Amino acid sequence: MRKVAIYGKGGIGKSTTTQNTVAGLVEMGKRIMVVGCDPKGDSTRLLLNGMAQQTVLDTLREEGEDVELEDIRKQGYGGSLCTESGGPEPGVGCAGRGIITSINLLEQLGAYADREELDYVFYDVLGDVVCGGFAMPIREGKAQEIYIVVSGEMMAMYAANNICKGIVKFAESGGVRLGGLICNSRSVDNEYEMIQVLAEQLGTQMIHFLPRDNMVQRAEINRKTVIDFDPAHPQADEYRALARKIDENETRVIPTPLEIDDLEKLLIDYGIAA
Ligand code: ADP
Ligand code: MG
Repeated sequence: MRKVAIYGKGGIGKSTTTQNTVAGLVEMGKRIMVVGCDPKGDSTRLLLNGMAQQTVLDTLREEGEDVELEDIRKQGYGGSLCTESGGPEPGVGCAGRGIITSINLLEQLGAYADREELDYVFYDVLGDVVCGGFAMPIREGKAQEIYIVVSGEMMAMYAANNICKGIVKFAESGGVRLGGLICNSRSVDNEYEMIQVLAEQLGTQMIHFLPRDNMVQRAEINRKTVIDFDPAHPQADEYRALARKIDENETRVIPTPLEIDDLEKLLIDYGIAA
């Protein structure tokens, strides 16, 4: 089983990209579990066609320790298995700790072990690596293979670089590696070239360039992935291409994060001044 985590700045498109890619992998016959690690709890909505998913932490709060696997893991698109870690009540407690609690509970309940035929588990993880809790899936080998969703916007690139620093920290002990950058386009000038150079400087690859397309929103309003909503649309093929590239990817590196000056130089050379 490949243990993949998707990281990236908040709002960059992690959940959308994860679910659409999972839909592509499911079409290829892969068996997949998705573990949402964002307190928003919206990592599996499109796979579940909007069906409300009880989060692990809410279930724990309501039912105490007496939790059944069926309460917190639902079948979604193409037989994908969907769980949401959830978060603490707003303003109370640490969301990062909640993720640790959830993954431990999933393990205890045998959520991974009962599906030996699982090909992938995908962790969809909130934002920047700013606290140990969000680094949880990459600690202790919960996730082994990281993809960072990024765009040509400065804060997205800044976050990607920070996430790389987090990966470096755990790479030696836990064996986690970077599989590549996924550019989710914001139609910034020279975005393709800039992210390709960023990837190169980080010692990795831009595994795919996803165009920005309103079909993503149209499908989202209908609570579906693009592949589910309009399988013949070109954007569906983009997600299929990404799914295939991830499935075939054998590149795994310990990244080389950039100094801030070099990151800014990249933006000046390709983005702002170009
Ligand atoms: P994250 O999980 O990183 O916080 P989301 O996946 O929720 O971000 O995406 C934020 C918004 O961006 C969503 O409303 C989604 O529809 C939109 N979006 C993501 N990717 C694309 C794309 N390639 N084209 C158009 N809209 C996109
Ligand atoms: Mg999300």
